[in-house]
Amino acid sequence: MSRIAVFPGSFDPFTIGHESIVRRALPLFDQVIIMIGYNSEKRSFFPLEKRVEWIEKVFSDTSKVTVATHEGLTVDFCRKVNSNHILRGLRTAADFEYERAIAQVNKKMEDDLETVFLLTTPEHTPVTSTIVRDILRHKGDVSMFLPSNITMKDLADYVG
Ligand code: ADP
Repeated sequence: MSRIAVFPGSFDPFTIGHESIVRRALPLFDQVIIMIGYNSEKRSFFPLEKRVEWIEKVFSDTSKVTVATHEGLTVDFCRKVNSNHILRGLRTAADFEYERAIAQVNKKMEDDLETVFLLTTPEHTPVTSTIVRDILRHKGDVSMFLPSNITMKDLADYVG
């Protein structure tokens, strides 16, 4: 049976921290599905289809990574794609408390489902999509926080 991990998140936008977690997970799994969760009632900063396009570009060098979108519970998506593993990154103690509750509730809903955590590498710990968006709102340069093939030019059309 192939080992499929689902990496859920909003990825608004996808950062070097996200990329690092996915690349470090590749030796552990046969396939990693990056699941962009969305809520049709909530506005995101970047359009869903652009986030898909950018992430696909980042992983165009490997067939082990695919990108999907999903509205609803992550456990339902995992059932749909036959995955028993959720992949998450842990940056801080605050992340841990939040992630612990979600992982335990997910396991309660689906007993076969295990959440696998990778600790962030030190240089990526302070990088968050929220901070990246704040810098962009104030016309700052975020290229150092983006994967190497997502550029400021890609983002420019969506920054006010
Ligand atoms: P969510 O809204 O579900 O937290 P995010 O897009 O913010 O979605 O994050 C998705 C996953 O990526 C989470 O597991 C988060 O901990 C992890 N992550 C976010 N930023 C980083 C980073 N800088 N380094 C490592 N992991 C990260």
